Formats: sequence, structure tokens, C-alpha cells
Amino acid sequence: MNSIRRNYHQVLERMAAAARRAGRDPAGVKLVAVAKTFPPATVMALAAEAPVIIGENKVQEAEEKIPQVEPAGAFEWHMIGHLQSNKARHAVELFHMIHSVDSRRLLDRLERYGGELGKELPVLIQVNVGGEASKSGCEEAELEDILAAAAGLRWLRVRGLMTIPPFLNDPEDVRPYFRRLRRMAEIHDARLPSGLSLTELSMGMSHDFEVAIEEGATLIRVGTAVFGTRD
Ligand SMILES: *Cc1c(COP(=O)(O)O)cnc(C)c1O
Repeated sequence: MNSIRRNYHQVLERMAAAARRAGRDPAGVKLVAVAKTFPPATVMALAAEAPVIIGENKVQEAEEKIPQVEPAGAFEWHMIGHLQSNKARHAVELFHMIHSVDSRRLLDRLERYGGELGKELPVLIQVNVGGEASKSGCEEAELEDILAAAAGLRWLRVRGLMTIPPFLNDPEDVRPYFRRLRRMAEIHDARLPSGLSLTELSMGMSHDFEVAIEEGATLIRVGTAVFGTRD
């Protein structure tokens, strides 16, 4: 378990170094430690580091894990995986943030459950910057429509954009995709009504988070480099 804490600190150090290289304040980048497939005890190895943000990609797995993780207050839970509409209500109940809103329909549904549960929820809109059929996320062309709908919501707070770029061996080759997401956020941010802004950029994983930070990431989602290889 000590190795997990050591990994966690090594990632924090690499994050801070990447931020400084880019002339950014290291405090402006947060680590989402992605615990999918790992049991509650693995997550609890980080309890002493509180507050820690934990990412999960499946509602059902999170539903089982979250009640078992102690102390509950040490952790914030973020949904980062594709969200099916029949799981939307549970997602609103369980999570502190959802990174993976990819349609207007899902946005409307989450808003409705937010109202029913009386819960305000920050969310990100996932964009498929690489246009890969295998990846979820809306097309850039749909973003305008989704953001227009976001302006009228009461419970959901759209805070920024998220992407999963193509996997390329050399992280340098991923840089243009991160840059594209940031540019998209800047362009759409300027058109949003006051009170709404796209300040968060969720991008970068274990093998490319430093490049993502250099390109403006505010939330990086890192699994393997913290918890080790998944089965
Ligand atoms: C699993 C996962 C990650 C973390 O991947 P690693 O390569 O293990 O860091 C990040 N984002 C999403 C959406 C994931 O599903």
C-alpha cells in the first residue's frame, strides 16, 4: 500500500514540474486518481492524503465501492466513463462531478434528476476530438447546441470540457488534440452567457498527462501511474 502513496506523490511531483515548465501555477491542476477495477482497500491506501479525488468509469462499480471506502470525507468521486441514461439517476446521487456528458439528452436527464434530488452538480462536456468511432464524446459541431441548453439549467453547472484523445505511443503526438480541446473551450467560452464559463479541462492520462498539463489541463485522470497495472 505504501507503493500507492509513493506513486501518488511521484505523480504530484511530475504534475508540478510540468506546470512550472509551462509557466502555470501547480495549484491549478488537480489529480483524479482513477481506481476502476481496484477494490476499496486500494483506494483507502490514499486516505491519509486527503482530500483525494477518485475517478470511476462504471456506475455499478462505484455504487458498490463508495459505501465501503472510509473515511468517507477524505474522498471526492468523479464519474469519468460513458454514462448510460438508465444509470443517470444513480450517477447524480453518487458523484461530486461528472466528466462524461456527451449529449443534450443526457444533460437534460441529469438536470431532471438533480432537481428531484435537490443536488447541484458540476459537469464537463466530453468531446471526441479525434473523431474515433470507438471513443464516446460529442462532435465539436454538437457542442454549441449542448452549451446553449446548459445556459438554462438550474441544477447542473457546466464547468468545462473533457476528452479522451487517440492513444499514440509518443505523447508528443497527442499534443495537438489537447491543444484543440483548449482552443475549443476558449472559443465557446467567449460566446457563453455570463455566469457560465469553461474553465476546467479534463485531459491527460498516465502516459501523457505532462503534455496535457503543458497544454492547459486542470484535471488529469491517472490510473496506472498511481494504482499500478490493471488486470
Ligand atoms: C482508465 C481511464 C483513465 C486512466 O487511464 P490510465 O492510462 O490507467 O492512467 C483515464 N480516463 C478514463 C476515461 C479512463 O477510463
